[in-house]
Amino acid sequence: SSSISRALLARSFIMREFCAAQRRESKLEGKVALITGAARGIGKETAAKFITNGAKVVIADIRRDVGQETARQLGANASFVACDVSQESDISNAVDYAVSTHGQLDIMYNNAGIACRTPPSVVDLDLAAFDKVVSINVRGAVAGIKHASRVMIPRQAGCILCTASVTGMMGGLAQHTYSITKSSVIGMVKSVAAELCRHGIRVNCISPFAIPTAFALEEMQDYFPGLDAGALAGMIHNAGVLRGANCEPSDVANAALYLASDDAKYISGHNLVVDGGFTSIKSLNF
Ligand code: NAD
Repeated sequence: SSSISRALLARSFIMREFCAAQRRESKLEGKVALITGAARGIGKETAAKFITNGAKVVIADIRRDVGQETARQLGANASFVACDVSQESDISNAVDYAVSTHGQLDIMYNNAGIACRTPPSVVDLDLAAFDKVVSINVRGAVAGIKHASRVMIPRQAGCILCTASVTGMMGGLAQHTYSITKSSVIGMVKSVAAELCRHGIRVNCISPFAIPTAFALEEMQDYFPGLDAGALAGMIHNAGVLRGANCEPSDVANAALYLASDDAKYISGHNLVVDGGFTSIKSLNF
């Protein structure tokens, strides 16, 4: 009988630990999130992280097939809505879809973004390409904030996130167009946070350094032909960033989880930099 009671004790210990682990992993229990650009990359990783933490996630992306496949992979708490963020009506529909499907929208993550291949000199700036990037990175995020606010203000609660970039905080890292859009995102987040705090809505952004997603590898081919994930990781390492860790999409997803959760309930208007110390290092190397 002593071996039976030992087995029962062990079982109850394991159950207690299991339940504690579940609670630790459920920072977004009952929340509904809409993430743009979540078919792949940082958005996909964040959708998975949010779902693990108890949220229902609507994936909004221009890539229909990839987005549907991602939603299928992430299971019953993920759904997909086709959305080109440069079209205000698409954003409006995606927000309405989240509310009509799940009854509410708690978290809006404006993550979709592109860069463009333009010559590095401002003299040669292609203003048509500029308009296209602005229409997605800036106008798309503005539309996301506008329509999320439309449904969040009446509830006097909500959390809005955007993906900015360290290129929006300093010069010389990307062609001007992309930098301009990302600094606009940081400015927009601070401006809107100042208005929405009186409605109980928090607005924050995340500024990553280079993360070896398809985006980063595609965009850097012009400057470094044939660059692959391993070579990019080597370049990032050589930039002098934090040793012992590589920046991965999950690092941004963890930052997004923190900002979206009640752990950050008193944080708004903040730009959370996820860069292994890169911006600090650069400011010392003048
Ligand atoms: P990614 O290309 O892997 O993912 C971006 C997603 O956005 C894709 O699924 C794409 O289909 C979608 N998208 C593009 N245009 C869209 C549109 N008009 N409407 C809706 N969806 C659209 O890139 P990622 O690396 O995951 O980048 C995500 C965000 O992070 C972007 O805003 C990017 O600027 C930013 N960022 C990336 C890095 C990096 O190094 N990867 C660094 C800093 C910031």
